[in-house]
Amino acid sequence: MSKLISVVVSVYNEELVLREFYQETGAVLNTLPEEWDYELLFVNDGSRDKSLQILRELAEQDPKVKVVNFSRNFGHEAAMIAGIDHANGDGIVCMDADLQHPPECIPQIIAKFEEGYEVISMARTRNKSAGLIKNITSAGFYALINFLSDVKFQPNASDFFAMNRAAADVLRNNYREKVRFLRGYVQSVGFEKTVLEYEARPRFAGESKYSIKSLFKFSINTILCFSDLPLKLGIYSGGAVAFFGMIMMLYTIWTWFHYGTPSGYATIVVLISFMFAMLFVIVGIIGEYIAILFAEMKDRPIYIVKDTKNLEEKR
Ligand code: UDP
Ligand code: MG
Repeated sequence: MSKLISVVVSVYNEELVLREFYQETGAVLNTLPEEWDYELLFVNDGSRDKSLQILRELAEQDPKVKVVNFSRNFGHEAAMIAGIDHANGDGIVCMDADLQHPPECIPQIIAKFEEGYEVISMARTRNKSAGLIKNITSAGFYALINFLSDVKFQPNASDFFAMNRAAADVLRNNYREKVRFLRGYVQSVGFEKTVLEYEARPRFAGESKYSIKSLFKFSINTILCFSDLPLKLGIYSGGAVAFFGMIMMLYTIWTWFHYGTPSGYATIVVLISFMFAMLFVIVGIIGEYIAILFAEMKDRPIYIVKDTKNLEEKR
């Protein structure tokens, strides 16, 4: 019986790389073992350049190329989720369109599926194009999230991963959060898991779509989604401050007995500023959680599909 591998690719303004990606990945996919058939599922995440046009052309010529077209930009993760939702494969591989994730790894992934693994994370050994700052902040982020959260994350995991149908079904049915960290889910669903290593190539052409600002927001959301420790900060700091307050009270009584009424303008100002600062930080953290709750409660769609190509015969 033939098996199907779905390669899911999120595309946002990638007109410069798509043809090259198709050529190179197609070449690798055509060398797969006999029993593996493939589909190349592109999710156009509201590109404003010619990406959609190129994808339509590719799909016209090659029925193995399928396209899901979003009504607007919903972000990389939403695109990957849509790709997983629409993929028909027994195995699904998610990768970027910019060829940073080498297509040569696909046969190794298939070999792992054959061995019985169900979730395959791809760990980056080196990232040629990311600068020092990006590498350091990324390492810092993983150290922090691993400290805060119960789920243990693979530090250099990337948006390059693969899963079988069973694991994908869990994502399709049970992980429909609006504020999320897809890589985190992939690592926390369980199943037979393994890690393969790869060396990230430099981006083929075009530029990175992730700004430092969006990465920062993404990191904050991830921490809030995978840990409730920040929420408990209020209790811990409240306890610490209460203890400090007791000492201050004893000290004040002591000075009162020995020197009369204590004067302490500076102390009061410092204390008040410190207390208010802490209070606002904690209120802010609670606000962030409420924002997430609000987003989940509104239950707006993760993505909106405008049209599809070569996907009519969907499950
Ligand atoms: N991407 C997307 N939607 C976005 C931003 C990016 O689908 O809003 C895609 C992009 O086309 C690429 C992948 O996500 O295929 C990774 O983006 P990028 O290469 O810019 O990120 P980096 O590799 O620099 O982290
Ligand atoms: Mg990239």
